[in-house]
Amino acid sequence: MPEPDPVAEAVNLLFRDVEVDGDRVDVRVRGTRVVDVGAGRRADHGEAVTVVEGRGGVLLPGLHDHHVHLLALAAAHDSVDCGPAVRDRSRLAAELRKARGTWVRGTGYHESVAGDLDRHALDALMPDRPVRIQHRGGALWMLNSAAIALVSHVLDDSADVERDARGEPTGRLWRYDSRLRPALPPPDLDLARLGRELAEHGITSVTDATPDVDAGAVSLLAAAHAGGDLPQRITLLGAPTGTALPAGLTAGPRKLLLRDHALPTFDRLRDMIAETHRTGRAVAVHCVTSESLTLTLAAVEDVGAIPGDRIEHASVVPPGLASWIAGLEVAVVTQPDFLRTRGDDYLREVDIAERPFLYPYRSLVTSGVRVAASSDAPYGELDPWQVIRTAGRRTSTRGRVIGPEESVTTAAALAGYLSFPRDPGGRARRVRPGVHADLCLLHVPLAEALRDPRSEHVRLAVIGGRLHRPPS
Ligand SMILES: [Zn+2]
Repeated sequence: MPEPDPVAEAVNLLFRDVEVDGDRVDVRVRGTRVVDVGAGRRADHGEAVTVVEGRGGVLLPGLHDHHVHLLALAAAHDSVDCGPAVRDRSRLAAELRKARGTWVRGTGYHESVAGDLDRHALDALMPDRPVRIQHRGGALWMLNSAAIALVSHVLDDSADVERDARGEPTGRLWRYDSRLRPALPPPDLDLARLGRELAEHGITSVTDATPDVDAGAVSLLAAAHAGGDLPQRITLLGAPTGTALPAGLTAGPRKLLLRDHALPTFDRLRDMIAETHRTGRAVAVHCVTSESLTLTLAAVEDVGAIPGDRIEHASVVPPGLASWIAGLEVAVVTQPDFLRTRGDDYLREVDIAERPFLYPYRSLVTSGVRVAASSDAPYGELDPWQVIRTAGRRTSTRGRVIGPEESVTTAAALAGYLSFPRDPGGRARRVRPGVHADLCLLHVPLAEALRDPRSEHVRLAVIGGRLHRPPS
């Protein structure tokens, strides 16, 4: 018997005529659990029940995004989009000038807009207000002189603070988020909006892949979860080791962020993995190049993989590595939709020899690797239905198909979103008696959603037995 939930609420739901595992059935939810799945049986004992007429729409387990960055996603709401859609320097300047507030925050920058940016280039765009712009890769912040002056007290002597020949900061800061934060005004994040946005896509739980989440961020997320603003269950890859987390938050494998321009030695990486395993946690290793992937697999093999070990991205997987990954039983959490949003840049920037091995999916699955598609939002598109669509089509914005032999069925990509948080790409969760009432109801049968995956199909989500987006 499942244990009763501490936050059980007296909400009872009856989904009438919904599709579950191919059958048209009724599904009952009592409190926070699914209690019955079947055809029109059982009287209601006079309990108050909210009835939802499914009209044959499929009732799925709620979707789980296996790789997302919650606070960055919330912050992106109030940021200037500096991505390739901005096109050129004058449009970028105009967009930055429109921003409200003292600090201007931009995200998604790519060199195709206005080349490499340093403080001088940014001063030319906006001399009078502090500006910081994040490169779309997520690791690099670029600040103008006004911004550098405001954060100078947190700039350290590490190579992460790029400096010119005279030793002056160029304004380019690498992987500096947590060190920068104390010097910035407290973020005004609308986590309720984020919770709604996730629910509207049918997402009922997430894995946050931000490395080394600090205590402030943990309590922000915990408060938003407890207060109902962010109802989704959250697994944190960056959870601190050895401290208990508040309710609703779970520590996942530990995120190890390898620096591609300065990879650790084999011994160092092996020690990091072994140390993490000793604390009882698996590892989630960021691998976006074939070098980092090879190094990681060698280190994991040497230490010995444990259940839960996973590779984030696996952006380039040369031949032979898929069977190595499979042999180690390490999962891959991939982002096929980068082929749509960044594919045209990849075709320009990635070495021609590596292009056939970009974001592989099908070859991993056929080699026996457990693979789950995810968003990496805000660096990728959040919408899981778009991600699922791209996993099937592998088509860039300009219509170029990248590695068509690596496409998977939309059913396979959806199954990744239905896999358990602790087992990305493992077996799919199912709607059956006893499970958490984390559900996603579509307007249409499953076959139709798989033929044409779109978030407009999502009718409502149920998280912990509570309806989100009331039936219309
Ligand atoms: Zn990420």
